[in-house]
Amino acid sequence: KKMKAAELRRKYIEFFKRHGHAEIKSAPLVPENDPTCLFTTAGMHPLVPYLLGEKHPAGKRLVDVQKCLRTGDIDEVGDPFHLTFFEMLGNWSLGDYFKEEAIAMSFEFLTKELGFAPENIKVTCFAGDENAPRDNEAAGIWIKLGIPEQNISYLGKDDNWWGPAGQTGPCGPDTEMFVPLDRPDCGPACGPACGCGKWVEIWNDVFMQYNKTIDGKYVPLEKPNVDTGMGVERVTAFMQGVRSAYETELFSGIFAKIADLANNPEANYNNRRARVVAEHLRASTFLIADGVKPGNVDQGYVLRRLIRRAVREARQLGINDMFCSKIADVVISEYSDAYPELAQHADAIRDELNREEEQFAKTLENGTREFNKLIEKFPPQLENKVISGRKAFNLYETYGFPLELTRDMAKEMGFTVDEKGFEEAYAKHQEQSRAGAMQKFKGGLADSSDKTAALHTATHLLHKALRLTLNNS
Ligand code: ATP
Ligand code: MG
Ligand code: MG
Ligand code: MG
Repeated sequence: KKMKAAELRRKYIEFFKRHGHAEIKSAPLVPENDPTCLFTTAGMHPLVPYLLGEKHPAGKRLVDVQKCLRTGDIDEVGDPFHLTFFEMLGNWSLGDYFKEEAIAMSFEFLTKELGFAPENIKVTCFAGDENAPRDNEAAGIWIKLGIPEQNISYLGKDDNWWGPAGQTGPCGPDTEMFVPLDRPDCGPACGPACGCGKWVEIWNDVFMQYNKTIDGKYVPLEKPNVDTGMGVERVTAFMQGVRSAYETELFSGIFAKIADLANNPEANYNNRRARVVAEHLRASTFLIADGVKPGNVDQGYVLRRLIRRAVREARQLGINDMFCSKIADVVISEYSDAYPELAQHADAIRDELNREEEQFAKTLENGTREFNKLIEKFPPQLENKVISGRKAFNLYETYGFPLELTRDMAKEMGFTVDEKGFEEAYAKHQEQSRAGAMQKFKGGLADSSDKTAALHTATHLLHKALRLTLNNS
């Protein structure tokens, strides 16, 4: 019997509870106390204050499953394992256990609970640089536990380091765990850094063990923290021996609905457009349940982009009638056990989707016509075909085309868009109508993913803490 996502979540929580962790609730997708970030991008994100030393009411060992949204991964959606919305399992030590115990628990969970063979797990460790040594400690622990030495590789700051780049604050090396998509055939050197892409990252243990000071020194922290993150969709796929997150039960109901609406069995998990529709509407459903409404700034703008992109891809699949809320109904019925807020907000989810879809459907046709006219004006033999920022802005302003949609459509035709020009046109427009809105819009456009967003939070909080300290002394 193949493990389902629900069982994985349960196993993870139970395992870490057995190891003295307290289960905490997933925070909402919109950060509650952090105006610097649009979305919760990782399990550690809502815990930043505690990683910086504040006392957590549930104790020093925590475990949870956190809803995450990474707009920075939006262009990857369609590949097997990058989603905008995903669930992250995580365990934390707030100044309690450190490397030895953290890695031992990761190893035990992967091998005993999930059944991965040690020789099928490859890990990366920090390679070291002028500031901090190579993480031989982490590597040594893996080897001692049974990971073959040749399964360990060492990578630099870009891959195996967490911390505020160029800033002050807590930081440290991490160790990432990879499993193979299918029998890698690139020889013994094949691994996480191999171009074949067959090794997929499933888990990341971060060791916050230094404090980077103003003068650029890395001072060891007296009470280092551990922060880990494991992707539910990725691990579920591996437990079921399939090649993408889309082939698991987390998406099967959604795809059945899409194929049905498109009246086409090929609109399935292998179809890139169907993947985008499924992924974006699943994300949108969760966003609306957490109170986001489609709009022109901030979170609302991201939601709008997701819905509009899904609608456009659905048209290409031959879905011409109103359909978004029908997909949302599948998400609501399949996910409400784990996320009751979906059922609670089912009406709002349907209403917001219907309204946005209706509004967009009207302009999509006209906008596409306008876009095609624009494209036809270019001489076919021209090498660098660039749609000007002003024209892209016109599509946005008059036809409600998010920049990203124009970019997508342009790309399909071998065009690019002058995005800087778009922002300039937008800024000019905003100056004329309403001062100050540009800032917000930029937030909507340029949300950062992964660590970057969390880093903003960390830096923000650190500065706040510093100011407090200075004021108190
Ligand atoms: P990748 O290198 O594959 O982009 P990452 O290093 O950005 O992943 P982390 O920030 O370390 O990911 O997040 C912890 C875990 O969350 C990852 O090991 C992975 O299992 C999962 N994860 C990260 N990004 C995504 C995503 N876009 N979709 C689904 N799961 C993800
Ligand atoms: Mg990574
Ligand atoms: Mg990682
Ligand atoms: Mg990433």
